[in-house]
Amino acid sequence: MIKDNLTQLRQRIARSCARAGRQEAEVTIVAVSKGRGAEEIKEAIGAGITDIAENRVQEALLKYKQLSGYRFSVIGSRGIPNTEHRAPSTENSIKWHLVGHLQTNKARDAVRIFDLIHSVDSLRLAEEINKQAAKMNKTQDVLLEVKTSPETTKFGVKPEEAPALLERIGALANIKVRGLMTIAPLVDNPEQARPYFQALRRLRDKIYDLRITHYDLRILSMGMTDDFEAAIEEGVTMIRIGRGI
Ligand SMILES: *Cc1c(COP(=O)(O)O)cnc(C)c1O
Repeated sequence: MIKDNLTQLRQRIARSCARAGRQEAEVTIVAVSKGRGAEEIKEAIGAGITDIAENRVQEALLKYKQLSGYRFSVIGSRGIPNTEHRAPSTENSIKWHLVGHLQTNKARDAVRIFDLIHSVDSLRLAEEINKQAAKMNKTQDVLLEVKTSPETTKFGVKPEEAPALLERIGALANIKVRGLMTIAPLVDNPEQARPYFQALRRLRDKIYDLRITHYDLRILSMGMTDDFEAAIEEGVTMIRIGRGI
């Protein structure tokens, strides 16, 4: 079932990439496993998924533990000293993503298990992540969550505030911004999500033009099951797929 879903998903991705003149390898499928069990995650991994996302830290901790045999998240990241979290090197290495809102009091657990935190939207949260990462001798990769639509969620930094926030985060030693993330509002027609994806890409380009950060903001995380095609055409590098898998 999951295998078939992934086959269909990859066909949709291939068609969109062909239309957009892009390579399929430029688009990473991040499988959002909220509400799904460890067995299903293993099935997805068996079918080639390398990136798993949760939107709540508590739920992620549980599955991270259950999937201990699959727990390869620290590979390639700059070392968590605790050997308990170190897994043998393998080609089958899994990356864990946090795509939901993060409260500062959960930052410690988040830094412990996630390779990429998509939802940084305040200096206060960035500072707490930085502090916890420093304690673990880790550099935490994050994305800046941008609110491209006023009505979507309460979370995310306003586009006009993103450059200043990036500049401030740039001064923190144990956190590294790798790109931008947005959640488009729910729409009837996937085409209606396109302006939000365009807004995120344009914001990234504008930040580059302003030269206000030393970060390489290569990652754009946007697009879900119903609207990722438009995101691919607008330059996405990570699509977050839940129901479609
Ligand atoms: C659940 C979730 C997704 C996946 O949504 P689907 O429509 O099921 O593909 C993507 N991003 C975030 C932040 C989510 O919470």
